[in-house]
Amino acid sequence: MADFIEYRQLIVKTAVELVNKGYLSATGGNISVRIPSHQALAVTPSNLDYLHMEVSDVCVLDLDLKPLAGERKPSIESAMHAAIYKTRPDVNAILHTHQAYPSALALIGKPIPALFDEQVRFLGREVNIIPYQPSGSGLLVEAVVKHVNDHHNAYLMANHGALVFGEDMIRAVGNVAVLDKCALAYLLTLCAGEKASRIPDAARETLFTQLRKDQEKYGLD
Ligand SMILES: [Zn+2]
Repeated sequence: MADFIEYRQLIVKTAVELVNKGYLSATGGNISVRIPSHQALAVTPSNLDYLHMEVSDVCVLDLDLKPLAGERKPSIESAMHAAIYKTRPDVNAILHTHQAYPSALALIGKPIPALFDEQVRFLGREVNIIPYQPSGSGLLVEAVVKHVNDHHNAYLMANHGALVFGEDMIRAVGNVAVLDKCALAYLLTLCAGEKASRIPDAARETLFTQLRKDQEKYGLD
């Protein structure tokens, strides 16, 4: 039976990297990677500190949530991850974090407009807010699926955190950093009582078209 070891190793390595960079802590959030050969995903287990997580703790589920490897209970958001992989063929890695700056913008109901070139190039035209639904619920899965059809790679989750995608894990980790920087800059602008200027619409559309071309390339089987 397949043990999917390289994918499970990638989850452990990435979780430690995100903890060290301050984007994940303790057991907050969850991360996954697509396993294309098996229509499956490797995902962090429920309620286990990332710094104590071993490769054998990482769960592998098919996209209908049938367990394929790992003894532990998978993250309560596994259904959300599986639904995103079904909805977005271009997405091969998903990072759900509780990072503070995007969370703060979600709390005050401020989506992030197109502020920076790299933001639009990698995250999309804007970073929108997915309305609140309870963690781990089917209602949250429904809300997420409805919103991620707009081809963006980052979202704020109301009263919860952030949701970030990548065509691979390296890009997803990079996108978490891009989101964090944009969220902090936007928060500081709002705290200063100023209106944030945006990049011109024409530049925004050119950059978003480049992102969409990447997505079409990675979305091909
Ligand atoms: Zn969460």
